[in-house]
Amino acid sequence: MALICLGEREAVEWLYDVRVSMIKVGYLKYIAQENGNFNNVHAWNYDLLLRRLSEVAEEYGINVIYVDESYTLLRCPWHGDGCSIRISRGLFKCTTIDKVFNADLIAVHNILNDTSNPKP
Ligand SMILES: [Zn+2]
Repeated sequence: MALICLGEREAVEWLYDVRVSMIKVGYLKYIAQENGNFNNVHAWNYDLLLRRLSEVAEEYGINVIYVDESYTLLRCPWHGDGCSIRISRGLFKCTTIDKVFNADLIAVHNILNDTSNPKP
């Protein structure tokens, strides 16, 4: 979100200033082919954004890792597998504690804690 609001260079400069050494970026695999609409295909060019981010980050010595966002909502951050439900677009529910959370925050948490990628 910060990248879109600030622009790539300003966002990378801010990340550099707070000593971030690695950026994980969600790669929207097949979105244009499977779920494309005006908002996610025509209104912005995600590939261009990723290339600019990677180029600017390289200038600052920050690594950029592309992460597959598939299945990032299948795991509850507190209880693991078996209690997570996506109740609507943008909302995640843990059935164990019967609470609803923002799905993007859950996905980001799971991406950051994914052991298949090094942590930033
Ligand atoms: Zn849970």
